[in-house]
Amino acid sequence: MDVLYLIKLGEIQLKEGNRKEFTKLLKLNLKRKLSGCKTEITGREGRFYLRLDSTHAKEAEFALARTPGINGWARAESCDKKLPLIEELVLNEAMSAVGKGASSFKVEVRRSDKSFPMDSYGLASQLGAVVLEKLPGLTVNVKKPDASIHVEIRDKAYVYGQAEKGVRGLPVASGGKGLLLLSGGIDSPVAGYRMLCRGLDLEAMYFHSHPYTSKEALEKVKSLAGILAGYSGEMTLHTCHFTEVQLKINKDATPDRTTLYLRAAMIRAAELLAKSRGLKAIVSGESLGQVASQTVENMRFTASYSDLPVLRPLVGTDKEDIVKCSREIGSFETSILPYEDCCVLFAPKHPVLRAVYETERAGFDRLELDCLIKEAVKGIETETLHGVRE
Ligand code: ATP
Ligand code: MG
Repeated sequence: MDVLYLIKLGEIQLKEGNRKEFTKLLKLNLKRKLSGCKTEITGREGRFYLRLDSTHAKEAEFALARTPGINGWARAESCDKKLPLIEELVLNEAMSAVGKGASSFKVEVRRSDKSFPMDSYGLASQLGAVVLEKLPGLTVNVKKPDASIHVEIRDKAYVYGQAEKGVRGLPVASGGKGLLLLSGGIDSPVAGYRMLCRGLDLEAMYFHSHPYTSKEALEKVKSLAGILAGYSGEMTLHTCHFTEVQLKINKDATPDRTTLYLRAAMIRAAELLAKSRGLKAIVSGESLGQVASQTVENMRFTASYSDLPVLRPLVGTDKEDIVKCSREIGSFETSILPYEDCCVLFAPKHPVLRAVYETERAGFDRLELDCLIKEAVKGIETETLHGVRE
C-alpha cells in the first residue's frame, strides 16, 4: 500500500529567477535521502506530493522533517474530484481527529482548479455538514478548532489533517559548499545546521589532539556529524591530527596567546583543506562575547589566515537560543557528553582578549608553523557519515 505526503515549500517560492532550479534541487535532495525506497514526487508551484510504499513511512517522515527548503508537510489522502469520494476522505480524517480527542473542527478548502463546480466556501460548508451529521459529538469552531481538515482541489482532491513543520530555508547545495569547523561542543553543530538551512552544503573538519584528546571525543564528533547528515543527506568528516601544531604553539608562544594562535592555525589548516576540495567558505560556531576570547579583534586576527569567507552564523545569537536550537535538532545530548576538546586542555587562564592585529600577526608568523600545518593536513583521515534513520 502507498502513502502520500503533501509537501509545502516556503522561501523557494519567492525566488523569481531560481525557483525552477531550487525546486529541482530540493526534489533531488529528498530522492537521495530516500534512495533505499521507490519514490514518486509530483506537483509544482509550491506544492509537491511524495508517494512511496507505506513500509517506508518512518524514513520518509524522518527526511521530510529534516530537509531544508520544506516549510511543512502532512500525510494526505487523494481521490478523484468527485464529491462523494471527497466526503468519505474528510469523514475518515474527522474520525481520526475524534480518536485523538478532538471535539471541534473546521474544514478549510483551497480550490486551485477553478473548473471544479463548487466554490471553496460552498464545498467547505457541504463537507462540514456531512461531518456534523455523521459525528454529532463534534462541533464547528472556525477560530480555534481542535482539528483542521484541509481539502485541496488540484489535479486531484487532496485531504489532510494537521500539517507538521519543516525546517524551512533553502535546499542544501543551492548556495554552494563550505567547510564546517566541527568541535564536540554545543555551538558548532548548530552553526552547521543553520548554514545547511541557508543552502550551504558542508563537509566537516575536526581537530583532534591524540593522546591529549580521547577516542571518545572523536566518536562524539562523529555522532554530531551523523546528526547533521540527517539534514544534508550525508556528511564527510575530516579528522586532522593537530597535536604537533598544538605542542609547538604551547612551547613557543606565551601562555596567554596559545588559544588565539591555535585558532589561527586551525583557520590556516581549514583553508588548505577547503581549497583542495573546492569548498568556498569556512563555517565556525563562534558567538560574539560568548567566551571572553570571542571578540571582534580576535575574529579579525584568526580569520586573516584565510582569504575564504569565515561565516559565523551564531555571531549574534544568545546562548539560550543556541541551546534551544541544539535540542530541537537533536545534537544537545551528544554535545554535553563530557569529553574534553583539545582547546580546553591547554586553555590559558588569561587569554589575549583583544588581539592587536599587527603584533599578533608578527608573533604568529614567527612560530613558523606552515610545515607542521601542511603535514597535519596531509595526514587528514576522511570518512562519510549518513543520517541515522529511525
Ligand atoms: P563549540 O561549542 O562549537 O565547541 P565553543 O563555544 O566551545 O564552541 P570555542 O571552543 O572557542 O567555542 O570554539 C569556537 C569555534 O571554533 C567552534 O564553534 C568551532 O567552530 C571551532 N573549533 C573549536 N575547537 C575545534 C576543534 N577541536 N575542531 C574543529 N573546530 C573547532
Ligand atoms: Mg568548544
